[in-house]
Amino acid sequence: MSTLSLQSPRDIVAQSPSRQMDMPQKQQADISVVIPVFNEAANIDMLHQRLSATLQQIERRYEIWYVDDGSSDASLERLRQIAEQDSNVGVIELTRNFGQHAAVLAGFAAASGAIVVTLDADLQNPPEEIPKLLAKIDEGYEVVGGWREERQDPVFRKAASKLINEMTSLAVGVKMKDYGCMLRAYRSGIVRQIVDCDERSSFIPALANSLAKRSAEIEVGHADRFSGSSKYGLLKLLRLSFDLITGFSLLPIQLMSLTGILVAVAGVGFGVFLLIRRLLVGPEVEGVFTLFAILFVFIGILILAVGLVGEYVGRIYLEVRRRPTYRIRAIHHLSR
Ligand code: UDP
Ligand code: MG
Repeated sequence: MSTLSLQSPRDIVAQSPSRQMDMPQKQQADISVVIPVFNEAANIDMLHQRLSATLQQIERRYEIWYVDDGSSDASLERLRQIAEQDSNVGVIELTRNFGQHAAVLAGFAAASGAIVVTLDADLQNPPEEIPKLLAKIDEGYEVVGGWREERQDPVFRKAASKLINEMTSLAVGVKMKDYGCMLRAYRSGIVRQIVDCDERSSFIPALANSLAKRSAEIEVGHADRFSGSSKYGLLKLLRLSFDLITGFSLLPIQLMSLTGILVAVAGVGFGVFLLIRRLLVGPEVEGVFTLFAILFVFIGILILAVGLVGEYVGRIYLEVRRRPTYRIRAIHHLSR
């Protein structure tokens, strides 16, 4: 059992035995499966059993990276036991809970496979669907998403997801039925690009689609959670959608600037109207409306100015947020 203590995503790229760029790799997998795990102790055994059975049938070299996203239950212990018994398994232990997408990113940095598959640990995504994704990738697509026909989730969740989905499609410019489904396959080229983006609050399916030239979507099954309850409350969902809006476009700020311009133009138009009216009809009540016209022009300019400042702040924000997306405490796997 080798245990590496690493710090940043770049370290893992440099030091992980499974993917060193310059050195010959001990074992490179054809397929890497990355699974974020946050308090899923009751699901892990069944998951690993079903996943392994599926991967063995495919008859390609595979590795499984479980990323423990700061679980407080027995998840990490279970995963370490599995890694000790199964040489195809690696466990990345994060220092605390960073969120599902950060955990997947940590797995991406370690994955050596030519194709990388993600799925949830709660068995809502049936591992048995993986061959379908791989078949689609083999057709030449860079990203293949699953979409859940019969979603087994509460009504409020489905409605919220539908809204987020529309927004994502708009922001990314790639229309997909189901951005929320994490049962997905990516070619390693896309995965490398995602890792290089090194973004703090990222929404991986959206990022992948914005990077890929050819992406496809296929229907996959969806089951009830095997055990436990969803880790996404209203607040976490809301935060995810804000990440999406600000992470993929400066549209809100630009809309603000546009409003400013429109108000200013309307103010000028109103002023011209008052001037003509004054010449034809005579002055209006003590010039009150003239004052309004002038005011509108200035308010418009003010909104525009705020919008512009926001634009720059937004761009600086995009540059500055270089905080590490996740921190790794250790990597556990059998030395291969
Ligand atoms: N997850 C994670 N970190 C978190 C929240 C969730 O790694 O902070 C994992 C979780 O263990 C599961 C997947 O992300 O494997 C999806 O989470 P969940 O099932 O709670 O989301 P839902 O299915 O309700 O969208
Ligand atoms: Mg789930």
